[in-house]
Amino acid sequence: MATNETAFVTGAGSGMGRAIARRLASRGACLGLFDLSQDGLEETAAELGAEDGPKPLLFSGDVRDETALRAAVEATVEARGGLDTAVACAGIEVTGKVPEMDPADWERIVGINLTGVFNTARVTIPRLEQDRPGAFVAISSDAGVQGAQEFAAYCATKHGVIGLVRSLALDHGPQGVRCNIVAPGFVETPMADRIFADFSGEEVAGWEKTVPMGRFARADEVAAVVAHLTSADAAYTNGAVYSIDGGATAGYFMP
Ligand code: NAP
Repeated sequence: MATNETAFVTGAGSGMGRAIARRLASRGACLGLFDLSQDGLEETAAELGAEDGPKPLLFSGDVRDETALRAAVEATVEARGGLDTAVACAGIEVTGKVPEMDPADWERIVGINLTGVFNTARVTIPRLEQDRPGAFVAISSDAGVQGAQEFAAYCATKHGVIGLVRSLALDHGPQGVRCNIVAPGFVETPMADRIFADFSGEEVAGWEKTVPMGRFARADEVAAVVAHLTSADAAYTNGAVYSIDGGATAGYFMP
């Protein structure tokens, strides 16, 4: 698969999606990259070197818009002749307690984090089946396997992603499409920068200490796991929830 691979990545204009695009390009994959931000996509493309294969195809759009996603996947397939890998990475954070939340924020986060993964699966899985073997990976979170204070809406969407993609593994594994989930803890990306914007350096260091590895993840560490799960090395891995959280959800831990 390495040299003829075509991969479609949402949320590829920043953070983890960008790191995943870089990592898949480095193994020779042709890329279709999708994000709200055209500028972000262009920055991602600019980070790819000449040795990273053909120029990626860039599509700015909203994962809530199935029509836009479908057009992007079809254009990728048409240009590259197939689809082997799809990664649903686009996501947002919304914080706050439920009674105080604006219901519009609930709709927005469910639309992007959960329906966005649903839409990405709808438009990529039939094509992955056609070109099997295929691999689909969605980015959930450690907040997909446990609650988080003042992150109820985010947690609900990330738990939903796990239920959705585990079920995809059952429905499409038999057709040759492996569907897996990664569940990172805090990762050094613009999203984490926004979450910690009002924290002091000491407070952030305190959070890092609660992780058995003593630090947050780098985006390339998540990308490496996504690269594994979408490779032939993971040929028997289907329906897995792969924690990438430095052991934060492994159990009680006293720093
Ligand atoms: P990020 O740096 O903010 O990147 C997210 C990307 O998704 C941005 O380029 C953003 O575009 C794009 N996006 C947002 N809404 C979109 C939409 N409706 N349609 C298409 N693209 C959209 O965040 P990240 O940390 O890399 O997060 C990537 C994924 O990992 C998310 O699903 C997040 O929930 C998950 N995650 C993050 C962490 C963490 O600590 N960072 C931990 C666990 C899981 P704009 O910039 O234009 O909004």
